[in-house]
Amino acid sequence: MSSIDQIKKNVRVRFAPSPTGPLHIGGVRTALYNYLFAKKHQGKFILRIEDTDQARTLPGAEQYIYDTLQWLDIIPDESPTQGGPYTPYRQSERKSLYKDYALHLVATNKAYYAFDTAEALDAMRKQLKAAKVATPQYNAMSRDSMQNSLTLPQEEVKERLQAGVPYVIRIRVPRKQTIKFYDQIRGWVHVSTATLDDKVLMKSDGMPTYHLAHVVDDHLMKISHVIRGEEWLPSTPLHVLLHQYLGWEAHVPEFAHLPLLLKPKGHGKLSKRDAEQQGFPLFPLPWQDPNTHQATQSFREAGYFPAALVNFLALLGWNPGTLQEIFDKAALVNAFSLERVSKGGALFDIQKAQWFNQQYLKMQPDEIGIGYLLAPLQKANIPCTQEKARQICELVKERAVFSQDFFQQSRYFFKAPTTYDVQVIQTKWNDQSPEILQACYTIFEKLDDFKADKIKTALMNFIAARKMKIGQVLPLIRVAVTGLGTGPDLMKIMEIIKKKETMARIDTALKNLSVPSHLP
Ligand code: GLU
Repeated sequence: MSSIDQIKKNVRVRFAPSPTGPLHIGGVRTALYNYLFAKKHQGKFILRIEDTDQARTLPGAEQYIYDTLQWLDIIPDESPTQGGPYTPYRQSERKSLYKDYALHLVATNKAYYAFDTAEALDAMRKQLKAAKVATPQYNAMSRDSMQNSLTLPQEEVKERLQAGVPYVIRIRVPRKQTIKFYDQIRGWVHVSTATLDDKVLMKSDGMPTYHLAHVVDDHLMKISHVIRGEEWLPSTPLHVLLHQYLGWEAHVPEFAHLPLLLKPKGHGKLSKRDAEQQGFPLFPLPWQDPNTHQATQSFREAGYFPAALVNFLALLGWNPGTLQEIFDKAALVNAFSLERVSKGGALFDIQKAQWFNQQYLKMQPDEIGIGYLLAPLQKANIPCTQEKARQICELVKERAVFSQDFFQQSRYFFKAPTTYDVQVIQTKWNDQSPEILQACYTIFEKLDDFKADKIKTALMNFIAARKMKIGQVLPLIRVAVTGLGTGPDLMKIMEIIKKKETMARIDTALKNLSVPSHLP
């Protein structure tokens, strides 16, 4: 179907997470793409909670989904909490409905009861393996030798059902038929039913499986486009078949399978382990596992702006076709299209996420930046005038990535260093250093107007007169005054901390650094 046809449709998309754990950043991206697509086409964005797997449903995980979408301002039009025309939106509350469809499929010979025990299934798999079947399946070939309503006499099936013998309902996949569907991102997909399993539709506990429940709901909720992760692509032929079996072939939704998020380094899917090993968050909000009590790092705690995270995620698998990178929500809605979503996996580059955050931080009005500095200062009982805070913010703004950096990167403005950067000392500190630093002290002592430009001129004259290199002098002053090897404009730093404090710090450094035990 062309993109024009697609736009003509009444767009209704859904994000359908299972609350089995905290919503992963990949899930957030799926939600975002659904949202952007809906808004772009004046459609509806629906949140449906797929909690049919009761054993895996975790307390708090559903709330986490609401909180995340709220934080990122990806607000659904219909959801379990807001309601909507197709309520309820939580699958556990729709349980009775699925059974009717499953029974209808049995009645029309598209599905069947299966009574096989776990041992029988295991034995079947082993037997097929022994016969060199690469992927043993319950299918048109193997079902004949199993205990189901296609092999057992009808009377016996009835008896078993009446006696309450546990059963599942399986879909009856045709032996050899081609299923084709169009994926908005991948194009036409053709699959032979010979590769498909007779998947379980209703479990023995009376709950539907994901396959049945979501197909029924997508139909009843009039979903026009199913936009979801690539991991669902292999099951899509089965879903298409289910739509056909239920007589809904004229209303099969469009499909779009989003590319996987890949490891930042190396090959393969992004995993929790990568994040833990490399120290970056994978979850939007704080989460504590209710069973293990283990806490998980989050983007919010790390200091990410929701809008920056949204911007980053939008470009993780989609590109606007131009070099533009900064997009607010409205610009994303305007530019987004499924055609520009890539087939290949998207490399999860946390540095890029940081870069986005930095850009959003720079866009904050000065007053906000000053607040980022003043609030923690007040908390720590460190006095600072508005003017001094303004000057500091002006300097640290360029390097800050997160709002907390305003405070963390400006500690030396309020407190003399007690340690000195090891690398600077190792590479820059030598026999002449004490004398050079002492000379700088004297130069500063004589300067009446301790302004950045005046300090700079005086130092440059000194360096030129001694025929030295800047690198022999300024790193010594920086490490003496701030304790660090890098930072913003050194002259401005000295102007802000003022002459007396600058000199006192140089004096202390001279004392500390000439004691060998202080040297690294
Ligand atoms: N409940 C499924 C999940 O958590 C939804 C997949 C789909 O969007 O169809 O991934």
